[in-house]
Amino acid sequence: MGKISVSVLGGTREVGKSAILLEAGGTRVLLDYGMKLIPKEHPQFPPIPEKVDAVLLSHAHLDHSGSLPRLVRKGFDIPIYGIDITREYIDLLLYDAIKVAKLKEHNIGYGSKEVRRVLNNFRPVEFNVPFKIGDLEITAFNAGHIPGSAMFYIRYDGRSLLYTGDFNTLSSRLMPPAQIENIPEVDILITESTYAMREHPPREKQESLLKEIIIDTLKSGGTAVVAGFAIGRLLEVAMALRAKGFRGKIFLDGMARRSTEITEFFSNRVRDSDDLKLTTMSITSVRNWQMRKKIAKKPNVILTTSGMLEGGPVHYYMKERREDENSTITLTGYQVDGTEGRRLLEEGRVEIEGEETWIMMKVNQLNFSAHASRSGILRMINELKPESIMVVHGEHSNLFAEELEDKMGTSSFSPEIGEEIIF
Ligand SMILES: [Zn+2]
Ligand SMILES: [Zn+2]
Repeated sequence: MGKISVSVLGGTREVGKSAILLEAGGTRVLLDYGMKLIPKEHPQFPPIPEKVDAVLLSHAHLDHSGSLPRLVRKGFDIPIYGIDITREYIDLLLYDAIKVAKLKEHNIGYGSKEVRRVLNNFRPVEFNVPFKIGDLEITAFNAGHIPGSAMFYIRYDGRSLLYTGDFNTLSSRLMPPAQIENIPEVDILITESTYAMREHPPREKQESLLKEIIIDTLKSGGTAVVAGFAIGRLLEVAMALRAKGFRGKIFLDGMARRSTEITEFFSNRVRDSDDLKLTTMSITSVRNWQMRKKIAKKPNVILTTSGMLEGGPVHYYMKERREDENSTITLTGYQVDGTEGRRLLEEGRVEIEGEETWIMMKVNQLNFSAHASRSGILRMINELKPESIMVVHGEHSNLFAEELEDKMGTSSFSPEIGEEIIF
């Protein structure tokens, strides 16, 4: 049987700049090529490999896609395989990354020209339909994380490898769960481990809490601002509110507007396209500053970016409502250390337009994570029963790998960046 070599260029023992180089039978394929955004610092990038034939892009998030234009810049005009909607999402995210970098005076090493070439090189593939790159046979399976998120199953000379990308084993309002039951026998598993050390609270409870917060805020005459990621998260929140019987007006602002339009266009990529349609019909897009100013003054429900309060229209709404104790700001996920979202939770203030701003609004934090929790990851491993497990994409991936090895007796490890493993 032929050898499969895996080199980790980034995204192990950390979250960010996911990049793995896989080589088998002379074919070299990158599994994702992301960038790491660090609050108040320059972003980080994986090294440029010497030779690559193609990229398999698991999903659009910048920690998986953000360095692709750097590859193009180095002369790698190579095909990038992914699910159709991923191309439209990276169109949005990569151009936005350039904008943000300019604003923060960071050098990300590419411009719109390189992004255009990435988009031109994108080759859409379909879930469950095998395709070939050199001697590798590859099949994408739905990963359940965001629309278009794929797990790549790679077969070479009688051996098989599964790269999960980011995945979720539970169904959400927006996404069906990862298609684990459809995956054939796996020899080598490369799994993400973002929440390998913890469980999420039951989603049902989070949804009820969200509805309560919104209803109470409106009753007391306040504005309910909900912050979340542009791709998937705010739509998930809107769908949850609808499912819980909320029928009031919902405003949507920031990059989430365009992302919602894309999702609507590719509605075959979500769990329930009718539910999506009914939800988007109940959403009003904030189209301009005039509208933004008007709705901020009244008791309204506003879903907006950015998810960790690092920028975006959420800053405007917080500035407007900062002294109003009846208004609320609700965070919908984990807040990374050093972000303004984390500062709001710990210190009650954020930096808006260069100014320290105390926030009197009530602050809430909910968990609408789109990643598998510890039990989800373990369930997947139990179902697939791989020979070896490589743990990546997690702050504690080495601890989790040790645990897997001890408890399950499966050869498990979390490589260091730069390490090459031969299977
Ligand atoms: Zn992701
Ligand atoms: Zn990720």
